[in-house]
Amino acid sequence: LPTVGILGGGQLARMLALAAAPLGIRTLALDPAADACAGQVAELIAAGWNDEAALAALASRVDAITFDFENVPATTAERLADQVEVHPNPRALAVAQDRMAEKTLFRETGLNTPEFAAVDTQADLVAAVERIGLPAILKTRRLGYDGKGQFRLKVPADIDAAWSALGEAAAEHGLILEAFVPFDRELSVVAVRARDGEFRTWPLTRNWHVDGVLSLSLAPAPDTSDELEQAAVAQAKAIAERLDYVGVFALELFVRGGELLGNEMAPRVHNSGHWTIEGAHTSQFENHIRAVLGLPLGDTGVRGASAMLNWIGDMPEATPVLAVADGHWHDYGKDARPGRKVGHATICASDAGSLRAKLVEVGAALNREAQVAPAIEVLG
Ligand code: ATP
Ligand code: MG
Ligand code: MG
Repeated sequence: LPTVGILGGGQLARMLALAAAPLGIRTLALDPAADACAGQVAELIAAGWNDEAALAALASRVDAITFDFENVPATTAERLADQVEVHPNPRALAVAQDRMAEKTLFRETGLNTPEFAAVDTQADLVAAVERIGLPAILKTRRLGYDGKGQFRLKVPADIDAAWSALGEAAAEHGLILEAFVPFDRELSVVAVRARDGEFRTWPLTRNWHVDGVLSLSLAPAPDTSDELEQAAVAQAKAIAERLDYVGVFALELFVRGGELLGNEMAPRVHNSGHWTIEGAHTSQFENHIRAVLGLPLGDTGVRGASAMLNWIGDMPEATPVLAVADGHWHDYGKDARPGRKVGHATICASDAGSLRAKLVEVGAALNREAQVAPAIEVLG
């Protein structure tokens, strides 16, 4: 059987493994944590990113290697790429790992971004605040996810607190200060590029974050003009071509006054694409597996409208979602922990009105009215 190696064994690896299985494709995940949740559905090698012997063993057993976690050291990806196909390629991974390199690339391919400046010292921070203004967000250049490694500055007096929080990270990896964008909405393009350059996208997804963590996604994003959608897709395509990218990636965008601004890209399957498992003809997970193995891509068309609710910290009761028609439950099999993504639900419907009705029902039954409220409002 063809085998795909996955660096990282979290829920993304788990869902990749679940999508690969019906195609007769085996998956082998490598993760430093012996209890990584992909290990419940795929073979898991418990080893660190610099464990030469484990990496060599992985490379010798697989037809291609990909990522569930983008912060694998770029040198590890490069070493593996000497032995086996690695998709996305190590250079694409390196760009997406560094918020400075990423935003610089966005600007080069014609995608505007929030104003930004590199910050390595407290003096840099003072100068950056003077140039960019406030409010602003100070972020670690590397290793941040789910809003971690970020500090929001509102007034100049916040500079000291921001430096206390992130000064140590500055010494290690550098920081970036970004203008805070009072966006009208957040969208993502989930896209896939094949080894032969074929490029496809799923319809734009609208996303809502709470405390920097994705809470809710709606797809296709309602009230999106063809013009905006085409512009977003063209940006994603230009970025993918520039990086010679193979596989699925997500481009996170802010919309402000009709203009698109690039926030970041995820060089992997993405939380805002989880709805594609049930809501699209081919899921992001299946198309990623197809792309990295050089197989034809599947149809990215949708069956109707979908909403995805993230479960953060702990799992709610499954029954209300299972009881609703076309309601789908995903439990990642992870221990509950504050702020941790432990599962999600996707609710699908033939049209916006019926999706709205189902979300009202599920929100009330789970006592999660606030989480579904933004979707109910825009579907109304
Ligand atoms: P992810 O889990 O998506 O990788 P992350 O930790 O890399 O998250 P970002 O995507 O940079 O973090 O930020 C998380 C969220 O915080 C964004 O989706 C957005 O809601 C908000 N945010 C981040 N940067 C800005 C900004 N410059 N202006 C306004 N809001 C922002
Ligand atoms: Mg990120
Ligand atoms: Mg993000």
